[in-house]
Amino acid sequence: MDRENVSKPLVMVVEDEAALVTMLRYNLEKEGYRVCEAMDGEEALTVLAERSPDLVVLDWMLPIMSGIEVCRQIRRKPRTRDLPVIMLTARGEEADKIRGLNTGADDYLTKPFSLPELMARVRALLRRVHPSQSKGVLQYDSIVMDLSSHRVTRDGRNVHLGPTEFRLLQFFLQHPGCVFSREELLDAVWGPDIYVEPRTVDVHIRRLRKALNGDEESDIIRTVRAAGYALDVEGTAI
Ligand code: CA
Repeated sequence: MDRENVSKPLVMVVEDEAALVTMLRYNLEKEGYRVCEAMDGEEALTVLAERSPDLVVLDWMLPIMSGIEVCRQIRRKPRTRDLPVIMLTARGEEADKIRGLNTGADDYLTKPFSLPELMARVRALLRRVHPSQSKGVLQYDSIVMDLSSHRVTRDGRNVHLGPTEFRLLQFFLQHPGCVFSREELLDAVWGPDIYVEPRTVDVHIRRLRKALNGDEESDIIRTVRAAGYALDVEGTAI
C-alpha cells in the first residue's frame, strides 16, 4: 500500500529508536498517512527543508540536536511556524511538559504511550490545522462521499449508511482497488485494540453492498476469495 498520493497528509517522525520509527511508520501508513523520517535533530531540519510535512512527531531525546531545539527552529522559520508538533518523551514530569509546550509543541506524549492515543492526537491536530483535508470529498467511479456533510451518493442517488458502513466505505475510498483482508479491515475501521470476530466484517460488507448496489448497478465491492475485499469497478468475484 505504498502508493504516493499527495492528497494524503505527510507525517514526519523524528526519532532515533529504529524500532519505534518502524512501528510508527507502519501504523501511520495504515491510517492512510504518508510518512517521512529523521533519526536525529540535524537530519530533521534537513528533511524539513526538503519536504513539507503536515505534522511532526518529535522525540525529545535525540542525538546531535535535542527535540526541544528542533521545535524552536521549527517555530522560528516562517515556513514551518504553524506546523503541528507532537512531542514524545520519556520524561513524565510536569515541569518538562510545560517546558515542551512553551517551546512550541502543540501536544505532548510521555513514553511509553498508547498507539491509539497518539493516532487520536495526530488526527485531532491535523483536523485543526487542515480542516479541508479531513473534511473533503472522496470519490471513486460513481461513488461520492462528502466527509463534511457525511453524505454518500452513487450516480447521484443518496446512499444511506450506518456509521460502521460509512467508515468501511471511507477506508475503501481512500485505497481504491486495494484488496484488504478481514483482519486489515478490522484494524483500520474498528481499531487495533477492539476485538471483533473477523466474520463481523462480512456482515458489514453485506450491508454496505446492499446500500451501495442499486437494482441496475453493478457490484462495486470485489470479494477476493481467501484474501478479502476491495472497492473495484473491475467488479466480479474471482
Ligand atoms: Ca530518543
